[in-house]
This record gives sequence, structure tokens and C-alpha cells, in this order.
Amino acid sequence: MIDAVNIRKDFSILNTTVYGKPLIYLDNAATAQKPECVIQTIDELYRTCNANIHRGVHFLSEQCTEKYEQSREKVRQFINAEKKSEIIFTSGTTGSINMVAASFGERFVSEGDEIIISEMEHHSNIVPWQLLCERKNAVIKVIPFDDKGVLRIDLLDSLITERTKIIALTHASNVLGTVNPIKEIITKAHLHNIPVLVDGAQAVPHGNVDVCDLDCDFYVFSGHKLYAPTGIGILYGKEKLLEQMPPYQGGGDMISTVTFEKTAYAQLPLKFEAGTLNFIDAIALGVAIDYINKTGRQNILNYENKLLDYATKRLASVEGLKIYGEASEKVAIVSFLLKNIHHLDTGMILDKQGIAVRTGTLCTEPLLTHFSKTGLVRASFAFYNTFDEIDALCEALEKISLMFK
Ligand code: PLP
Repeated sequence: MIDAVNIRKDFSILNTTVYGKPLIYLDNAATAQKPECVIQTIDELYRTCNANIHRGVHFLSEQCTEKYEQSREKVRQFINAEKKSEIIFTSGTTGSINMVAASFGERFVSEGDEIIISEMEHHSNIVPWQLLCERKNAVIKVIPFDDKGVLRIDLLDSLITERTKIIALTHASNVLGTVNPIKEIITKAHLHNIPVLVDGAQAVPHGNVDVCDLDCDFYVFSGHKLYAPTGIGILYGKEKLLEQMPPYQGGGDMISTVTFEKTAYAQLPLKFEAGTLNFIDAIALGVAIDYINKTGRQNILNYENKLLDYATKRLASVEGLKIYGEASEKVAIVSFLLKNIHHLDTGMILDKQGIAVRTGTLCTEPLLTHFSKTGLVRASFAFYNTFDEIDALCEALEKISLMFK
């Protein structure tokens, strides 16, 4: 069981006041707050252990390298990858997708080939593929979703052709909250030998992810949405694919030997980790994973599901409020509009009450186009949020609703 009152003691930022009101932080899908152990780790590492990894034979360098590699092992276990060499540290979800689009695209995508994405993708899972398609003269095809925010996977068969080179889909939508039937899609794609990249940015913080069970070819996520620091993320890739892909960037650490004539690349995962990586934050990501494991991933999921149910019912009862995203399986994200009030106005009035929500396009312009909207308001929850905070949000929205009668 989650005891949010106790858990909140680990997140000192939650004691902040905003305009004299206690902070109610409901923008967790944008970035989550960091527990004290993560902040302390960063502080301690810079004070006691900072030295570049994989390079020195000296004590600090070896210590830092060991911690960095231990963190890679923690990530491997966290998503149940088969091998440590399949876990690549990147700058985040965006960095990981760009890496796959560039490297996989370079090796496997040619003129006239097709890439399938969905209508509910974050811009991070659209633009890198568009850049690739511009370079290669390839084509993007899109799986639509219905008005409840459920992916039309019944249309997938009609989109797949022998030119389809990869399917790149979000596991959970950052706007609709929809959890997509990724496993079913992967099984279908593999019948045609098409690899699948899963954008797990919004799924990993909210439950168990098992890449072996999913059988996905790539799985990507960001540390900062997982209670870890910014600037660190993960690309999981199946070894047999990563082996065939060229390096994304050249530089130190990704080579085995260099001459002016030819360079031999390092083995996985270092082949994809050129230059000095963000090793301090990579280690802190491991500490965030320890914290989540200690809290219990199932406990987190159960609690967040209760928050989601409560928030959905309470919000739906606010006069004039419409929720976007009504799939039966969702992560704890609720996007909405209140009457015909501009999303920015709603967000700014909530802010004055100390309530932090996200407003705007939410980095998903094509998704908004589906609903003919230019922006939404989004409340997204973490396991340190409380039912009282949801009440406060709804009471504030009720007042706004009255103001705009
Ligand atoms: N994909 C999804 C579904 C997201 O929600 C986000 C961020 O909100 C991203 C990708 C991009 O993540 P980042 O900015 O950490 O690279």
C-alpha cells in the first residue's frame, strides 16, 4: 500500500508554496519530482567520486565506472532485458528515437520504404522519422485513433506492406493516457518481419515493463519522468539489430582502435555511447530505480489507478468539463477542456491557486487536430499525489466554471 503522506517526505519540493498557496504538482507527465536519495546521490558523487568513466586506471575513475555499469544492470533488470549490452544510455526518449531513426534508418530504410507511426504520437516520435523520410525519400503512414482515444489497430493490416521497414508507437499516450495493446501489435508486426520501436516515456513510470515478454525490438524512455535527473535516458535494442546498425555518433569510448585509414568500433553497448556520457545522472537513474523498486511497482500502479478513477469521476462532474481520452486502459493522465474557456486561461488561473497543470499542444499537434483543438489542459499524477489534491483541483475548476458562466 502506498502511504502518500509518508512518501511526500522524500520529495522536499512538494513543501513549496506558490503565491502563498501549497504547491499541488500535477504536471508529472512533463517531468516528475526527484526523491531526496536521487538528489543526495548527485551531490555526493560530485563531492566524492567524480572522474571520467571507462578511461582511467585510477581509483575514482574505476569507482565511477563500476557504479555506471551497475546502473546499467539495474536498468536491465528493471525492464527485464536479456543482456546488459542491449541497454544504451542516451540523453532521453528524444535522443533514443533520433538515434534509432538515424542509425536503423541509415542501414535499413531506402527510397519508397514506409514507416508506420500513430496519430497519438508525441512530436518526438514523429519528427525524427520525418527527417529520415526526407533524407531517404521514404513515406510515413499513420494508424488513426477513434474519438475515445483508442488506437484503430483493426486498420494495421491495411497499412502494412512489403515496404514497411519499422513501426514506431507510443506505449501510453502523454495526452489521452491510453495504454496501447503493444504486445498484440508487435506479434502482428513480427508476422511480417517488421521491427517495432516502443516509446515508453509515459508507460515506464506507471507499471511493469518487460521487454522480453513484449518482444519489442526497441524500447525507449527518459529518466526525468521516472524520478531520476534530466539529461539521461535509455535505448533498449535487441542485440541482433543493434549489431547490424552503424554508430550514431563518432568519438571517444565508441572505438576499439583508430587509425587515419580506418576505425574499428567498440562492442555493444559502447558502440552507441560516443564521448563523455552523462555518467553522474546515469548512476542517479539507478538510484531512482532502487527507490521505485523499494516502493513497489505494483503498489505504485494500484495507487495511481485509484487516483485516476477518482480524478476521472470528480473531473467529469465539473459543469462544462469535457475529458479527452476515454480508453478503458489508461495511465494516470487526464486531459480536458472547461466549457469554451481557453486552455491557457484555465491553466493560469489554476496556477494562481498553486496548482501546476500542463496546457497547450502537449507536443502532439496531430493528436489535437483529430479533435479540432489548439490546446488542452492536462493533469498528470504520480504516487506522491493525494485525493485531497484532486479535490482542490476540482474545486478550483468549479470556481473557474462559475466565473465564465
Ligand atoms: N514521448 C512521449 C510519449 C512523451 O510524453 C515525451 C515527453 O513528454 C517524449 C516522448 C519526449 O521525452 P523527452 O523530452 O524526455 O525526450
